[in-house]
Amino acid sequence: MDLKSALKKYFGFNSFKGEQEAIIQSVLDGKDTFVIMPTGGGKSLCYQLPALLLEGTAIIISPLIALMKNQVDSIRGYSEQDHVAHFLNSSLNKAEQERVKSDLSAAKTKLLYVAPETLTKEETIAFFKAIKISFVAVDEAHCISEWGHDFRPEYRRIKQMIKGIDSEIPIMALTATATPKVQGDIQKNLGMNDADVYKASFNRPNLFYEVRPKVDPIKQLIRFIKEREGKSGIIYCLSRKKVEEIAETLVVNGIKALPYHAGFDAATRARNQDMFLNEDVDVIVATIAFGMGIDKPDVRFVIHNDMPKSLEGYYQETGRGGRDGGEGHCLAFYDYKDIEKLEKFMQGKPVAEQEVGRQLLEEVVAYAETAVSRRKFLLHYFGEEFDEENGDGAKMDDNAINPRPREEGMNDVLLVLKMVDEIKQTAKAKYLIKILLGKKDSEVQSYNHHNLSGFGKGKAKSDKYWMAVIRQVTVSKLLRKDIESYGVLKLTDEGHAFIENPRSFIIVLDHDYEARAEDDSIILNAKASGGVADETLYKLLKELTREIAKEKGVPPFAVFQEPSLMDMALQYPITIEELTNIQGVGHGKASKYGEHIVALIAEYVEENEIERPQDIVVKSVVNKSGTKVYIIQSIDRKRPLADIARAKGLTMEDVLSEIEGIVDSGTRVNLDYYINENIDEDKQDELFDYFQEDSETGSIEEALKEFEGDDYTEEEIRLMRIKFMSEMAN
Ligand code: ADP
Ligand code: MG
Repeated sequence: MDLKSALKKYFGFNSFKGEQEAIIQSVLDGKDTFVIMPTGGGKSLCYQLPALLLEGTAIIISPLIALMKNQVDSIRGYSEQDHVAHFLNSSLNKAEQERVKSDLSAAKTKLLYVAPETLTKEETIAFFKAIKISFVAVDEAHCISEWGHDFRPEYRRIKQMIKGIDSEIPIMALTATATPKVQGDIQKNLGMNDADVYKASFNRPNLFYEVRPKVDPIKQLIRFIKEREGKSGIIYCLSRKKVEEIAETLVVNGIKALPYHAGFDAATRARNQDMFLNEDVDVIVATIAFGMGIDKPDVRFVIHNDMPKSLEGYYQETGRGGRDGGEGHCLAFYDYKDIEKLEKFMQGKPVAEQEVGRQLLEEVVAYAETAVSRRKFLLHYFGEEFDEENGDGAKMDDNAINPRPREEGMNDVLLVLKMVDEIKQTAKAKYLIKILLGKKDSEVQSYNHHNLSGFGKGKAKSDKYWMAVIRQVTVSKLLRKDIESYGVLKLTDEGHAFIENPRSFIIVLDHDYEARAEDDSIILNAKASGGVADETLYKLLKELTREIAKEKGVPPFAVFQEPSLMDMALQYPITIEELTNIQGVGHGKASKYGEHIVALIAEYVEENEIERPQDIVVKSVVNKSGTKVYIIQSIDRKRPLADIARAKGLTMEDVLSEIEGIVDSGTRVNLDYYINENIDEDKQDELFDYFQEDSETGSIEEALKEFEGDDYTEEEIRLMRIKFMSEMAN
């Protein structure tokens, strides 16, 4: 049978992807084989098919127990015989292990997945000696290298173990990490320098790369996502806390999002992941724990809220976008402070590890700071050249389509380098900038540094500019950060040479995102002060609200409440979409009652030549928002209110207050499942009518007074008010 027929027979595919066929042939020929292919390229098949065809059992070493089960299940699915594939790891009990071993001894098993820890056990080795092994495949082989992004020490002992079984067994290594350093490490460590190497291009022409300065990222996030309504995306953060914070803020701002990180129990993780896969939510906010083995083809954006620890990780994560070849926007927010934070985290680690970590981070900084095409930079990092004019994917990154402003910086670079020299290489960046700007504080005075020749020479420019100069000079290796004395800047040989022989040095400036950010902060401050921003407009809006209420036959409080009107008098929304950014206004309310409101504001803005704030204002996470988000999600799932209360350790009263808060802020909830069960229909009608016809302000106190002595409980009244507000006001 030829390979194509085998492919069809076992996997049902009609053709091989990329170089799969040649790779499989190499393994069948008993050669050591090294496969470097991006995520999703189809590496698994490269060992699965030969394993099925060869005599004996192939051992597949894989780092993640969770993924092993998936792999085994999928291969069993193709063959319909359970014994064809097994895994052996610490999750199996004794009896299960015995069953696996008996299938192996009976030569029924073609693929055996093992964790490296299992492989290092004496008894496992002894057992493998007694059976026929076709080859050993090391999946995720970058784990061998400390230059890989998830180095596992036990991976380094694999070669020794294989030797213990039979030194003639062919070895196969597979990875999606392509840096020449990692490659070399893997080959050396596995003793496969003569292997056939198959390296696929890492270019993903449909992905768009962008790096933005991290200025008010949450606002940028919301804007970015709202412009892509209904599309799937992943947001990566470095900390669990940030994950939860951002997920909550997105939800409060009307975006369907869920958090995912390793701190949640397995059931929650599985549920949130499924909801993302099934498109019950659009956005998943996650730590890097999310995405291994995820194969959602239409992820339209991957956002890094924080820069990751290495470009390998970054590439892997962005690689989850646009798998189907369609749009995939990869946006990263960069703030040098985040890099410093990561450097600090490393301080407790062994020096060698710190050294590696710092160098990986330096590459991340270089990527973020670069002015050349991002794609070119990334591919170069992975050992590939890219033609930025005509290559596949040219003009698909921010630098390529919108070059950053630059200016000649030779004299400024010289100023910085000379100062480092003069100050005897004892200062960190921040301190240098202080001297450049001429800030004469007590620290500067105590060292007499105000007498340095460069003191105050950089006054004409901002601290941001000088920080950019220092970073770019460091990226160009004229300066280096000392590791031992964390962050102190030292001159390199090249730096000394530059002082002797200055040459042109182009400084790349950031796009001016700051100006926009300042506008926003003015808005937010005005808002915090509490007064009405535009009294005249506010009065007009209040009047109009009354008219709308009359026309629609609902009380004014059900149309727009005061805090919403105040917010409108601040933000001047002139479209329905903008109106939904107003406090307490959801989509329902905006489209139901918004038409005349935005028309009025538009006219007002025009007549009075008002310059509107150009930016969206983020609804902040209200108190105990975690609870609110939980309640909204639970109601969506029609959970009884008593269960919700119990789960959150709240009283029924608390839960009702929370729901009232949710409804009053413009979000609609549907409690019919609960109300219909607990309040009889006549009562429902009477209470609903009351809020529709008789209530002046919609207040609960008023309603309680009205129904005092009647046969209504407070809970019933409050539930019906919630229903009324949801249906009529939101
Ligand atoms: P990798 O391990 O390289 O990230 P996988 O082995 O998980 O990638 O494969 C990615 C996807 O490609 C899987 O859904 C797999 O079924 C599919 N695939 C692999 N080879 C082929 C092929 N020859 N034809 C069609 N689909 C394939
Ligand atoms: Mg794989």
